[in-house]
Amino acid sequence: MAAHDSGSAADGALTRPWESHDFGRTVHRMPRRVARPSTVEEVAELVRGARGEGIGVAARGRGHGMNGHGLVEDGLLIDLGDLDDIGAVEPDRVRVGAGATWHQVLAATTAHGLTPPALTDYLHTSVGGTLSVGGVGGMALHHGMQTDNVLALEVVTGTGELVTCSPTRDRELFDTARAGIGQVGIIVRATVRLVPAFNHAKWFHLAYTDTAAMIAGQRTLLAAGTPSFLQALGAFDDTGTFIWSIDAVFFTDVPEDVTPDILGDVHATEITSDTLPYSAFADRVAPVMELRHQSGDYWAPHPWLNLYLPDAIVDAELPAVLAELTPQNMGSTGALLTYPIPTGKVTTPGIRLPEAGTAWLIAVLHSDVDKQTDGLATWERRNRDIYDRLRRSGATQYPISPPTFTAAEWREHYGTHWDTLAAVKDRTDPDRILTPGTGMWN
Ligand SMILES: Cc1cc2nc3c(=O)[nH]c(=O)nc-3n(C[C@H](O)[C@H](O)[C@H](O)COP(=O)(O)OP(=O)(O)OC[C@H]3O[C@@H](n4cnc5c(N)ncnc54)[C@H](O)[C@@H]3O)c2cc1C
Repeated sequence: MAAHDSGSAADGALTRPWESHDFGRTVHRMPRRVARPSTVEEVAELVRGARGEGIGVAARGRGHGMNGHGLVEDGLLIDLGDLDDIGAVEPDRVRVGAGATWHQVLAATTAHGLTPPALTDYLHTSVGGTLSVGGVGGMALHHGMQTDNVLALEVVTGTGELVTCSPTRDRELFDTARAGIGQVGIIVRATVRLVPAFNHAKWFHLAYTDTAAMIAGQRTLLAAGTPSFLQALGAFDDTGTFIWSIDAVFFTDVPEDVTPDILGDVHATEITSDTLPYSAFADRVAPVMELRHQSGDYWAPHPWLNLYLPDAIVDAELPAVLAELTPQNMGSTGALLTYPIPTGKVTTPGIRLPEAGTAWLIAVLHSDVDKQTDGLATWERRNRDIYDRLRRSGATQYPISPPTFTAAEWREHYGTHWDTLAAVKDRTDPDRILTPGTGMWN
């Protein structure tokens, strides 16, 4: 097991050590120690040691969180990067180490013509990291979230025990470890559901300048149910006009030069298309992140906002959010992402969606916050204001990014799931050492 003292590792251009911040770079907490175990038994031993020492423990996947939940002041940070084993690929499942990235999982499974049914947009996050929050992407219209597509978990609890849980084995632990933000255990392995993978992605880009037309277009496509993948991404162009592009993607084995009839009903101002190999489509955000590296934005603060809106308010509230954005405060590579999710497809109890048939993810993904006149403090205030306003109309937060919740807000967030979470927490982490960065039990 490799371990090093805090401050011994630095991350490229950073002035602060990597273990003291996440991708958000809005919260900084310095652990007492970092350990990089290579077996699940070592994870259990580390947790038992930390419990004996009376310090907090947090798991580190790939550090792409944005609110400091995975940081631990004067505690133990367990970097799971070496727990990236991929087991034998079976026709309907694969058992993987929680530190593996979805990119690694996809590479292994597509070699057998298989894929996890639900992928996040960015694949270079860890299996344990996204299963701890949800894992949502443009395939949610058919498959829900990644937490809805996991068959079993192996978890190290806050007492250092290794426990396997599933729908038929310690169901309460299974239901609270998924989307449980590391509160009841550290996920060390997951058995992920697999389905046949198509060879290609036929990707239609539907352009809009009118937000209402874009929303209507996505509703039409959702009702038809024919795209394999559905999202819309918007950004300011060079003239300062905000342009939406619905990405309606149809997975296929044999690419054909045919435009599906449904695209005649979505009233886009322009329709263009590409055909990509399925794996290249799935990994499409990696080049975007490379651009953020090149521009330096990767190292800037990212107080992104991720909310789920009820269908009933999206027509009024998405334009209201958009009205707060400008070419300056979105930065050079900033974007606004939105897509509908049928709530019936999401069965993970820890995922809190609005009480409605359809929820809309809206994600404000600005860039260059360090170079803006708005700056971090303004964005934090704006995020809080937007969240507070929309929460009153039934919106919920995807808790990967600000605003930071108080303990009372966590309780409200989890709603009817809270009592189960608290009971499992009492059982599996009686000293409350796991993932203290959420502030959930303060
Ligand atoms: C560019 C970018 C694109 C993204 N796109 C998407 C997207 O399309 N869909 C989506 O759903 N999310 C997306 N996210 C958010 C991201 O998936 C989540 O923040 C995820 O938790 C990050 O995984 P990670 O491995 O980097 O976890 P980390 O940032 O290392 O950890 C995140 C949280 O999970 C906990 N944790 C990590 N591993 C474990 C474990 N094994 N057991 C228990 N707790 C653990 C940590 O303690 C921390 O609280 C994106 C983030 C970025 C930066």
